[in-house]
Amino acid sequence: MIKVTVTPKDDAMCGWYHTAPARQARPAHTGEKNTRWAVVGAGFTGLAAARQLALNFPDEEIVLIDAQEVGFGTSGRNAGFAIDLPHDIGADDYIGDIDIARSTLKLNRLGQGILHALVEKHGIDCHMRPSGKYQAAVENRGIAVLDAYRRGLDKLGEPYEVIAGKDLPDHIGTTFYRQGLFTPGTMLLQPSALVKGLADSLPSNVTLYENTAITDVDYGDKVVLRHPRGRIVTDKLVLANNAFGARFGYLQHTVLPMYLYASLSRPLTEAEQAQLGGKAFWGVIPADPFGSTVRRTHDNRILMRNSFSFNPDQQSRPHCLERFLHKHRLSFERRFPMLPDVGFDYTWSGSLALTQNHKGFFGQLAPNVYGALFCNGLGVTRGTVTGTLLADMIAGKRHELIDFLLSTSGPNTLPPEPFLSIGVNATLWWGQRKAGQES
Ligand SMILES: Cc1cc2nc3c(=O)[nH]c(=O)nc-3n(C[C@H](O)[C@H](O)[C@H](O)COP(=O)(O)OP(=O)(O)OC[C@H]3O[C@@H](n4cnc5c(N)ncnc54)[C@H](O)[C@@H]3O)c2cc1C
Repeated sequence: MIKVTVTPKDDAMCGWYHTAPARQARPAHTGEKNTRWAVVGAGFTGLAAARQLALNFPDEEIVLIDAQEVGFGTSGRNAGFAIDLPHDIGADDYIGDIDIARSTLKLNRLGQGILHALVEKHGIDCHMRPSGKYQAAVENRGIAVLDAYRRGLDKLGEPYEVIAGKDLPDHIGTTFYRQGLFTPGTMLLQPSALVKGLADSLPSNVTLYENTAITDVDYGDKVVLRHPRGRIVTDKLVLANNAFGARFGYLQHTVLPMYLYASLSRPLTEAEQAQLGGKAFWGVIPADPFGSTVRRTHDNRILMRNSFSFNPDQQSRPHCLERFLHKHRLSFERRFPMLPDVGFDYTWSGSLALTQNHKGFFGQLAPNVYGALFCNGLGVTRGTVTGTLLADMIAGKRHELIDFLLSTSGPNTLPPEPFLSIGVNATLWWGQRKAGQES
């Protein structure tokens, strides 16, 4: 028996969750349940896997289980960028191997297309808009990153627009940045509203149990998932629970549980919107990975996202929330001196699964166990498409992107402790320091 010693308990103040339309959570599981299919994790990946399994096996029941309420976990806590373009931070031009980049682009666009079609079909109120994204730089190092990425985009044949610092205020209000690189393919959205809507539009043969944390597992001809109020016995198990997947007995010592931090301001008044200027809805990602992601939302709030912590115990840390709220405040003031009285209504953290080689796991873990795990920071599109394609792979369907995922996925084994923590914490410290004004 595998004891799942840690289960998710996210902090309470995720702004996306609280400002999304309220929904009634589905009841937690109690008692004994036998099923053919169980999916653990109802984020982007698990919702997509359960939906596609339900379509592939319309006469069978799919049980989807989450430890928390849908929309409260990481899938509802991110910055809401559904990004199409590949961005390989290990490559000089951020594109790297052109064949891998082309397949990654296809994957991401397929994921975007799936989400867009579901939002349209079910009328999900999540403010999804094809707004593109600005990648913006303020330091020389950041400008060099934009130059390199531009070369990569040329190689890939993807369009972009370079925007000089003096013109950026027409787009995003602030005069803070020296240069921006606009790429048109990103969609921005309210992530918690989207996952709540996806959960409420699942096919009728999906049974969703929320607030049901799996605490131990028996593997065998059948898989037994136990929780404090009962157990679920399944013929086949799909793990779609991101960093927590490594607690289920497979892929141990491959994933780094990182926490990221975000704050959402109160809505700007009409006068403040006029002082800010620029477009009504936009998103900026930093040239430096340790910099700040910033958004102006559909309801005229400003989102600031920066700072990381390495939490091997996979629990959120209240003292980090306090520390990074202060950092968000300073980052906000640097960018928006014209908005001195705008405070934050919400500050939260979210758990992320990083691997050393930036590769997730996709495929079969044992004869009756499958996984699409370890998002590496881009789960909105990637989780959606890998969950969908995993369900197709299980159903025996062929697709060039399934072959691509099977041939390119697979995380490295990490160094042992204490070297791991020392190395990761030093990298975080140095990266956050080096980011300078970009943060
Ligand atoms: C602050 C922040 C900003 C981000 N910005 C972006 C962005 O702009 N764009 C982007 O693409 N990505 C972004 N990400 C990453 C993105 O949120 C993730 O890649 C995505 O959520 C991964 O989806 P997932 O379904 O694979 O996993 P998750 O969203 O982590 O879902 C896994 C689910 O499994 C459940 N679970 C875990 N263990 C158990 C258990 N034992 N029993 C039952 N259930 C369990 C959890 O409760 C959780 O709901 C960001 C992340 C953070 C934290």
